[in-house]
Amino acid sequence: MRFMRPESLLTPTPSGLYCPSGAFYIDPTRPVDRALITHGHSDHARAGHSAVLATRETLDIMRLRYGERFASSTQSVTYGETVRLGNVAATFHPAGHVLGSAQIAVESGGCRIVASGDYKDAPDPTCAPFEPVRCDVFITEATFGLPVFRHADAASEIAKLMKSAALFPERAHLVGAYALGKAQRVIALIRRSGYDRPIWLHGALESITGYYAECGIPVGDVRPARTATRAELSGAIALCPPSSLQDRWARRFPDPLACFASGWMRVRARARQRGVELPLVISDHADWDGLCRSVEATGAGEIWVTHGQEDALVHWAKQRGLRARPLAIAGYGDEDEAADASTESEAP
Ligand SMILES: [Zn+2]
Ligand SMILES: [Zn+2]
Repeated sequence: MRFMRPESLLTPTPSGLYCPSGAFYIDPTRPVDRALITHGHSDHARAGHSAVLATRETLDIMRLRYGERFASSTQSVTYGETVRLGNVAATFHPAGHVLGSAQIAVESGGCRIVASGDYKDAPDPTCAPFEPVRCDVFITEATFGLPVFRHADAASEIAKLMKSAALFPERAHLVGAYALGKAQRVIALIRRSGYDRPIWLHGALESITGYYAECGIPVGDVRPARTATRAELSGAIALCPPSSLQDRWARRFPDPLACFASGWMRVRARARQRGVELPLVISDHADWDGLCRSVEATGAGEIWVTHGQEDALVHWAKQRGLRARPLAIAGYGDEDEAADASTESEAP
């Protein structure tokens, strides 16, 4: 039996989802006293909160990006562990999005709400798989929330890259990939395909890739591109932030071939617009089928949609007899492919 109204347990506010009885926010977009953070992308994990509760990996990633003093105090939580805050129980479950990413289940008064942050139910060798959690209300993103978005199998997209590298052995293949998660997933998939030569990195990808390696993710021989000779870069595979594909950084490579790993590469015009020769449809967000499948797996009678293409998913849910509403929280989708961002550092 449900005693508490969902909106009383988690209240959408301009700063993010607020839990009055636990006195905390989830992924707040402004500095707050207590924040529970789903994952390290900068639109969800911001610096300047007093107390931060997150997985150890998310805390480490925040430390790498913002420095030791990104929060006054931190507490780490493992998957499946429940933390009591007031009369609210908060439990973190894997979201399958990036290393350390979590869905946060909050429960009180017989009502359970799962805030999933960003997630995907597709396989990813760099993080724990998405785990559906039964709940009354499921809060979901809808970055690729249109039926046209069906992501290909990531391994087959990497096979296209390897085929091109074999076909044009003298050309350097530059792969644009977001710095947290996507880059390391692409590297791990390249390794799985059997490629064991060095993979060269743009400076903006070095620290997070190093952290993934420390956590035991098999990235193999990765090296800073800034230390490479021109001969070493001939026919090499290198990764960079998407914004660097066309900038000065790319000019050090002989005869570069621009690739871009993103769910948006499904849209041909986007690939053309960015001068991408080899689009790789690889996304760290659920596609349309993944969103629908995940909503169903939670058994939730109600869904709230935080950001992305909200209308189609809300419509789909209502047709199935679920209650559904868009939350329209501003501030999400600024970093990762939610915004197709091109704001990353262009240093080295
Ligand atoms: Zn994200
Ligand atoms: Zn996001």
